[in-house]
Amino acid sequence: MSRFWSELAGNLTPYVPGEQPQGTRLVKLNTNESPYGPAPGVLAAITATTDDQLRRYPDPQANELRAAWAAREGLAADEVFLGNGSDEVLAHAFQALLKHAEPVLFPDISYSFYPVWCELYDVEFRTIPLAQDFSIKPGDYAQRCGGIIIPNPNAPTGILLSLEQIREILISQPDVVVVIDEAYIDFGGESATSLIPRHDNLLVVQTASKSRSLAGLRVGAAFGHRDLIAGLERVKDSFNSYPLDNIAQRAALASLADESWFSASCQRVISTRERVALRLLGMGFEVLPSKANFVFVRHASRDAAELFSALRERQVIVRYFNKPRIDQFLRISIGTDAEMDALLEALEAILAA
Ligand code: PMP
Repeated sequence: MSRFWSELAGNLTPYVPGEQPQGTRLVKLNTNESPYGPAPGVLAAITATTDDQLRRYPDPQANELRAAWAAREGLAADEVFLGNGSDEVLAHAFQALLKHAEPVLFPDISYSFYPVWCELYDVEFRTIPLAQDFSIKPGDYAQRCGGIIIPNPNAPTGILLSLEQIREILISQPDVVVVIDEAYIDFGGESATSLIPRHDNLLVVQTASKSRSLAGLRVGAAFGHRDLIAGLERVKDSFNSYPLDNIAQRAALASLADESWFSASCQRVISTRERVALRLLGMGFEVLPSKANFVFVRHASRDAAELFSALRERQVIVRYFNKPRIDQFLRISIGTDAEMDALLEALEAILAA
């Protein structure tokens, strides 16, 4: 610890993202990026950026983008909040909406950034164990708390809650904010944005990083009642009143304008996932039912840490979490069919050895 660090910097257990090896020929299946490029209009919008768009500050309200994204979800522009990736949106949600005297609840196995934000912003939290089959049981969240945050589908399990189950949580908790983190919703799930008009305590968070192939651009959004959005804006403006740069705003607009590219790209990932899941089952893996762009698997007889290392030796990187209950699982992002064939071939060779 440096003598210049504050107590917070010294004591914080930092979030560690999946590794991002640069410029290698690895088959990279470890951070759930899209294997396909964004809609063609995105690159066109970026290259058409003008001098003025660089010289001037961006629209601090990002009005055009908010209106377009809101319309897609059947909402109004003031029911949308934008940030640099959904990580920034979520960070503001912890500060503005989830910090109360009672603890915030989230699943014990979920996005590992949640406890880090709690530590950073001094938010009390209590984790709720997943059921035996790794699913989330809505009834477990009907307890006194200061708020709830759940990824849907959950990460790293990929298991989806139905809209009816989310409604059950909302109805049991009308007086606290319920955040549904939909980073992976576009791969077979149904967004909870349709519940917003009837539930003023629901905040739905989405990202352009996965299904829109824009992880490098950093664009995320939250949808909810305008009072929730106003709370997020208050905190955001005090950090950085220009959440999205001009290029990101224009590129995200171009992505939203191409619905057919979007659905085709998601569908490709879904069909590859279903094919790979069947092959993995045939190889002796248990595959949790995934509605995300990854699968979470464990082998009946082979150690996950050893499989992880053996794959790495064969230039395939997946994600291994050395954590209780999931230390025999591997999380494998869905890549192109060729990448997944390379993974399956490598696994076959490892299992045969
Ligand atoms: N939520 C979940 C559950 C995630 O897995 C991720 C990706 N690491 C994020 C949010 C954040 O994604 P981004 O900041 O790229 O929008």
